[in-house]
Amino acid sequence: MCGTLKRRFLLLYGTQQGQSKAIAEEICQQAEEHGFVADVFSLKDINQFNLESEKDPVVIVMSTTGTGDPPDASLKFVKKIRNKELPDDYFAHLRYGLLALGDSEYTYFCNGGKIVDRRLQELGGRHFYDTGYADDCVGLELVVEPWIKDLWVALEREFLSRAENKTTIEELKDVTSGDHNIPEVPGNLDIHLQTFSLESELAPNNTSLNKAVSDACKEVELSLVHSVPPLCHCSLNIPALPSPYLHVLILDSEAKDIDLSLLHPEEKMFSVPIRQAKRLTTEDAVKTTLMLELDISNTTIDFQPGDSFCIVCPNPCDEVTDLIAKLGLSDKQHCQVCLTVKSDTKKRGAAKPNYIPEKCSLQYLLTWCLEIRALPKKAFLRAMVESTSDAAEKRRLLELCSKQGNSDYNCFIRDHAISVLDLLNAFPSCRPPLSLLIEHLPRLQPRTYSAASSNLCHPGKLCFVFNVVNFEPCSGRTLPRTGVCTGWLAELVRGNAKDSEAKAVMDSKDMFAAEPQISIFIRPSTLFRLPLDSAVPIIMVGPGTGIAPFIGFLQHREMQRQQKKECIFGNTWLFFGCRSHDKDYLFRDELRSFVENGTLTHFKVCFSREAPCTTNEYMPKYVQEYLKMYSQDVVRILTKENGYFYVCGDAKHMAKDVNSALADILCAELCVDKLESMKILASLKDENRYLQDIWG
Ligand code: FAD
Repeated sequence: MCGTLKRRFLLLYGTQQGQSKAIAEEICQQAEEHGFVADVFSLKDINQFNLESEKDPVVIVMSTTGTGDPPDASLKFVKKIRNKELPDDYFAHLRYGLLALGDSEYTYFCNGGKIVDRRLQELGGRHFYDTGYADDCVGLELVVEPWIKDLWVALEREFLSRAENKTTIEELKDVTSGDHNIPEVPGNLDIHLQTFSLESELAPNNTSLNKAVSDACKEVELSLVHSVPPLCHCSLNIPALPSPYLHVLILDSEAKDIDLSLLHPEEKMFSVPIRQAKRLTTEDAVKTTLMLELDISNTTIDFQPGDSFCIVCPNPCDEVTDLIAKLGLSDKQHCQVCLTVKSDTKKRGAAKPNYIPEKCSLQYLLTWCLEIRALPKKAFLRAMVESTSDAAEKRRLLELCSKQGNSDYNCFIRDHAISVLDLLNAFPSCRPPLSLLIEHLPRLQPRTYSAASSNLCHPGKLCFVFNVVNFEPCSGRTLPRTGVCTGWLAELVRGNAKDSEAKAVMDSKDMFAAEPQISIFIRPSTLFRLPLDSAVPIIMVGPGTGIAPFIGFLQHREMQRQQKKECIFGNTWLFFGCRSHDKDYLFRDELRSFVENGTLTHFKVCFSREAPCTTNEYMPKYVQEYLKMYSQDVVRILTKENGYFYVCGDAKHMAKDVNSALADILCAELCVDKLESMKILASLKDENRYLQDIWG
């Protein structure tokens, strides 16, 4: 019976940019070959599946977005299972396996999947297969591929145990059960999180390669291109060579211009002029902080403070030109690129990337479609070896993608944000085909910025605040460079500035000779909003550019206070931090005026690089230290007055430090232990009263 009938499982995915969907499609396709059939649904289609009555095993592939949130499309599902009224055994019938996707560069790694996993467990659901955590930072495939490979074993085991249970029950009832014909299952389910095909690249008879390696190891300093013993002598475990799947044809005919809105057909995109650009920090400040004011008066854009906007940005023009030259395609820059899927590819589910418009030019493709600065994954390095002619370079690339070369990969590629162009410069004999870049580089992502203005206060105007990101030279890159989007925006406003004075300060009224236009679309926030009840107190913590959404909040509040005189407005606290009074005190005048007119009732600003004052008074340097000084107020507001706590800015350090300061404050003020304080913070998060808008 079971041998002939396909065994069904339910396959759900929560996707933000299509990765989970693609993985779910891959699982679905492989299911057939393994004698299973999958019913696949997006978590957004909650009416099409029913976990409450689901009897078959469930497989969930779940992405993470923003600051550790589940994908937008799955929020309804998450809300549904988070319902506190649900009993503890609500999903006691459920057997599931979950694959969580994330990026370990972010604080809340794989948190979208973890949220769902935790909640299903709380409601009685049980794993039939261990959760996989795939890390986009080093390559999702390192976990995804082995996880899928062992999923079939786990499903076999699950169906076997179901059949055995059924047989036992039927035997008890003395009913013959028929022929099961269930395939044999390995006794020990071993989940490999990283599998590599073992290939010794130092074959004894490969003398030229061996010589090159010995030469390379002689008295060299460890760097991106050179290794030292023992790595340069050891045999390597390297990833399997990814199967190529795209055929690229570059026509002789020139391509036409393609509208940027085609890049994100699912979004309502607007092209808007930059009306004004202001440098908020002084020339000698460590960071360059810019504020852009966009004119949205001719659009239908409607937003609330707390919303963010995505800016569609291009890759740097000179890098695109260099890359085209490295590919040997300089004469084809403006020619049409045609992509087809190779008919003989072994890659399952191979498809043309849907973010590359038909008939676009080579230059357009590398400028607007591919993240050419993306971290080259190990599978990409492995594939590049095939296009490298120099033996020593080949060996070093193999080392960098090998298990043994992991720390070199992290140190020389990941930590230095090395791009494919950097690699092609460092390994000049590597000449990959264009198809390899298209197969391995991800989609160029628009960059998100929090609105730093209020529509209510300044109709038709939208402001952003950002630091121009800088990358220093390093082993493998001789020149400094700026972030893709922030560098482009800074150049855009500088290049269009009318006169030299405006170029320097960028704040004169009609500063632009021609107003530069940028393409944006909204990314509305569901939670990071002012409380509906204006009477409840709020605490905002936003050092540096983290101040951005709070300027929007405060402008909004200021207008509300003028318009709704009868309303009660709760206390409004802001903890802000910068380096010094004179160089990077963002929005100094505007913040002062909020204090003067009573919009901001408690304003606490600290300076991390200012010399200590002569009095003996303790001056905190960082916002988390300042919070501790007001611990009684913080605890009262959060535990007695139903207040809100907002944090915005750097996710890697500040948000973590603020979180642990809050936990310490709760411990000290409420006389509870660390665990209890963490529980209080978790419930504040659940009630959407501890909200974060963090990045980095
Ligand atoms: P990229 O070329 O993408 O390089 C960024 C990489 O550089 C990161 O991977 C990081 O590892 C590294 N890096 C080094 N320094 C920094 C730094 N200071 N910031 C970011 N990355 C750094 N940014 C703002 O400045 N203001 C905002 O209001 C803002 N709001 C955001 C809201 C949301 C919801 C999110 C998700 C992000 C927000 N960001 C904001 C971050 C912003 O989207 C970009 O990531 C940032 O401006 C860098 O973009 P880039 O293309 O210039 O850098």
